[in-house]
Amino acid sequence: MGLEEKLPNGILLASLEGLVNWARKNSLWPATFGLACCAIEMMTVGGSRYDIARFGMERFSATPRQADLMIVAGRVTQKMAPVLRQIYDQMAEPRWVLAMGVCASSGGMFNNYAVVQGVDHIVPVDMYLPGCPPRPEMLLDAILKLHAKIQDEPINARRAAIRAASGERTELIASSIKYAPKK
Ligand code: SF4
Repeated sequence: MGLEEKLPNGILLASLEGLVNWARKNSLWPATFGLACCAIEMMTVGGSRYDIARFGMERFSATPRQADLMIVAGRVTQKMAPVLRQIYDQMAEPRWVLAMGVCASSGGMFNNYAVVQGVDHIVPVDMYLPGCPPRPEMLLDAILKLHAKIQDEPINARRAAIRAASGERTELIASSIKYAPKK
């Protein structure tokens, strides 16, 4: 059925929330941010075989101020944690975090003092992607699931949730991060 038959009068009714979320989910820009081997799989989705450009997401932003999706691709060390948090804080709101791979999600096989045991100790995570490494298809699947989640989010609740989570995480950082860069 053509568009003219579906919309004979050219009128489409939708809720404001539905339209805002539709625009948000279709305009995600990832931050350029890779930490370990998972980053290679993340880079692969930019190639023609996987084609993340189909979602308009091929533009990995070199500045966090023009990015709203952080894909944490790889293990997060204690030394890197404050840097990751600073990049997150500089990203535009609303913003989302995808923990890619078992290391970012839980520390994985690196159960030691040097590696953060899950990036959710540092920033609020919206989507966890298991695997070591997750294949590029799995990352695309996680992105689609994140799209669905964004579409169903109450738009006002998002900002309040981020603020609350940020406060909690700041306390966690103070108690769990052993290394802080010199000012
Ligand atoms: S999950 Fe596997 S591939 Fe990804 S950073 Fe950890 S060790 Fe590397």
